[in-house]
Amino acid sequence: MPTVKLPFHAENIASSPAEWTQAETGELQDKFIHCVDCKEDFLWTVGEQTFFRDKGLQNEPKRCKSCKQKKNERLNAIIAAQESGVRQRIEVAVRCAQCNEPTTVPFYPSQGRPVFCRGCFLAQRGQTSDGTQIH
Ligand SMILES: [Zn+2]
Ligand SMILES: [Zn+2]
Repeated sequence: MPTVKLPFHAENIASSPAEWTQAETGELQDKFIHCVDCKEDFLWTVGEQTFFRDKGLQNEPKRCKSCKQKKNERLNAIIAAQESGVRQRIEVAVRCAQCNEPTTVPFYPSQGRPVFCRGCFLAQRGQTSDGTQIH
């Protein structure tokens, strides 16, 4: 199978070919934008500009791709934290009373009660897999 050589500018096009084909480039030109996060100039390609325009976005991107990704990850982490905020998962570090391995349990063990790791706990419950809640 012969290797298809892409036109050199194709490497800079981040969006999918489908978005690219029907795009009319107009007077768009690759341009450099100053990233507000890392203060580096990054290239905003014609392909990406077209993608922006197709989406009806008016504002130029303010961040380079990696900073944008980091920002999205931060936002997602915040959203995830907020969503799980209703029932916060707790993790308490304990040692299993059976095998003495360090483990974490999703509850605060009461004094004097033995705490088991998941493996030992399940082994103790034996065959009963009736969906009883772990307390
Ligand atoms: Zn950046
Ligand atoms: Zn154990």
